[in-house]
Amino acid sequence: MIPKILITNTAKEVGFDIVGVVPAMPLEEESQRFGVWLSEGHHSTLSYLERNVEKRFDASRLVEGAKSVVVCGVAYLSEYSRGYPEGWRTKIASYALNRDYHLTIKEMLSALAERLKAHYPQLRFRVFTDSAPLAEKSYARRAGLGWIGRNSLLVTPEYGSMLLLGELVIDEVVDEYDSPKEYIGCGECRRCVEACPNGAILEGRYIDTRRCIACRTIEPMAEGESVDLDGWIFGCDACQSVCPYNQRAMLHTNPNFDPIVDPLSLDSDAWLGMSEEEFSALASTTPLTRAGLEKIRSMIRRE
Ligand code: SF4
Ligand code: SF4
Repeated sequence: MIPKILITNTAKEVGFDIVGVVPAMPLEEESQRFGVWLSEGHHSTLSYLERNVEKRFDASRLVEGAKSVVVCGVAYLSEYSRGYPEGWRTKIASYALNRDYHLTIKEMLSALAERLKAHYPQLRFRVFTDSAPLAEKSYARRAGLGWIGRNSLLVTPEYGSMLLLGELVIDEVVDEYDSPKEYIGCGECRRCVEACPNGAILEGRYIDTRRCIACRTIEPMAEGESVDLDGWIFGCDACQSVCPYNQRAMLHTNPNFDPIVDPLSLDSDAWLGMSEEEFSALASTTPLTRAGLEKIRSMIRRE
């Protein structure tokens, strides 16, 4: 049995801002909600979401022998996270201006696991970022880290929603588990709903990915699809920028999440005139490579 305090202290040492621990339990209520969302077709071209639904909501089926899920979050809120100047037409979601979080979070989780293994050499673990099927927002809510906001994102009282999550699934029980907390939550606020350029935020904290710019600028567009991008060329922060919890959250402190691309130095002409070599020098370590220069340019041409 591992003491929770050892896990939380070590997670903070390796650079996470928040951490919670829950049993590797099935999340039935969340799984049912997800099933409703899928059955209504709101996942659009994200067909991979149809696979492994049972594992997504049950860490013990995803990882053999799993006993506990350590949910870790790190803030990335930067000076670019709270909105762009009026009329700016080459907007980039602020998480994509940093080194790719998949790499950074994997390294941080591996460091956490190795430090725990120094105390518990028999410990077996797997690390996950959002590249693997685990319902991380749901586990984070169960761990008391925050609530699911109207825009379907995890919102935390201290860091808002501009957090990146990762999970360490371990085959040991922990001496004390976290549980969901009662938060004031969204209350009467509907700012994210009102700020979404395409009305993609549906009632019931669902997102229609067909209309969501964050999806459409990165994932393949469906045949004949036409979406107003509102100046976004990779991702979209519109529903997060306006969130009062993000507006009053501190800027990130972990230097791994310092922006390495300045989006305000790159207007449409700069992007359209950029060579692949220049793109590589600028952004090869960032999530922008998930779309690639050609897709980014095609987003600008659609404007
Ligand atoms: S990311 Fe953008 S398009 Fe998607 S729901 Fe939020 S505001 Fe709407
Ligand atoms: S903008 Fe308001 S409704 Fe939307 S997630 Fe933030 S607090 Fe909730």
